[in-house]
Amino acid sequence: RAALAALAGAVSVALTLSACGKDSKDTPEGGTIGIAMPTQASERWIADGKNVVTDLKAKGYKTKLVYGNDDPKTQVSQIQELITQGVSALIIAAIDNKSLNNVLQQAAAAKIPVISYDRLILGTKNVDYYASFDNEQVGRLQARYIVDKLGLEDGKGPFNIELFAGSPDDNNTKYFFDGAMHLLKPYLDNKQLVVRSGQTDLADVTTLRWDGATAKKRMDSVLAQWYGAKTVDAVLSPYDGISIGILGALKAAGYGSAAKPLPVITGQDAELASVKSIIAGGQSQTVYKDTRELADVTSTMVDAVLTHQQVRVNDTRTYDNGAKAVPAYLLQPTSVDKSNYEVALVATGYYTDADLK
Ligand code: BGC
Repeated sequence: RAALAALAGAVSVALTLSACGKDSKDTPEGGTIGIAMPTQASERWIADGKNVVTDLKAKGYKTKLVYGNDDPKTQVSQIQELITQGVSALIIAAIDNKSLNNVLQQAAAAKIPVISYDRLILGTKNVDYYASFDNEQVGRLQARYIVDKLGLEDGKGPFNIELFAGSPDDNNTKYFFDGAMHLLKPYLDNKQLVVRSGQTDLADVTTLRWDGATAKKRMDSVLAQWYGAKTVDAVLSPYDGISIGILGALKAAGYGSAAKPLPVITGQDAELASVKSIIAGGQSQTVYKDTRELADVTSTMVDAVLTHQQVRVNDTRTYDNGAKAVPAYLLQPTSVDKSNYEVALVATGYYTDADLK
């Protein structure tokens, strides 16, 4: 990690606040930072909120943390409220990436800097920085796992695969899916991989608000309509909550025995239920994104903006939100399965062994 950090430092492009054309408030010390997170229905966002609050407090800030209950309108009014309360900066993980333009106009008018957290906010120049993970790499890690486990590089197959993607209003969804499809496409083209449902376009495979029950329903109907005596060998799933839903459908259809083993199934976030499932031989893989690191990067960014220091970024081109290329700091995700969860998740203190019992 130290080597990675040094590398990121070496390629980082330092931007000053004036370079992004915005003045911040004059009294950052001890100011209050508004943090708008999407939902408490998933563990990762609870951890994100907690970690960001802890890091900002350690830097001398007060915090107001709100969760939008996965409802875009609720999130807009929560942000409005934070602006009214006079926060010094906003950290926002958007629910609907396009619903925040008006409210961010209000933030800009009040000279409140905005950091897009994990998910890029689209269509407005009123977002100063973006802190996230390399989202395409997340998809690549999921697809790489499938390629390796099925032995596609050794010419094995044909195998049946089904594809799932995240919420259509989350900018990350496309990056995850494109990253994965880039690796899977050659095998779809040469028919080592077959999508029996024929549902291969992003628009056909999204899962509104990343909802596991919605994914289960789709998997139920795909299995009923397209599988019969055939079996599915792999499922590209973008997120652990979706993977759990898909596993529910598979088990209901009789998968999970020696005669009918579960397919290779990916995930993301290293959520507790999924890591336990991986250990028990259910879900195959997840992508671990250390939310402690993201919180650290973000709180450091906020502090730099408010104290007029240079803001460290390592990507200034990839994340164009339609109004501008938003300077970003991207962290690296890690692929985790049964073989390395101890090293990746326990040795790093993300979970204790007791958590995983
Ligand atoms: C995040 C993922 C998460 C998903 C669902 C995405 O924007 O990047 O880590 O799995 O939202 O919460």
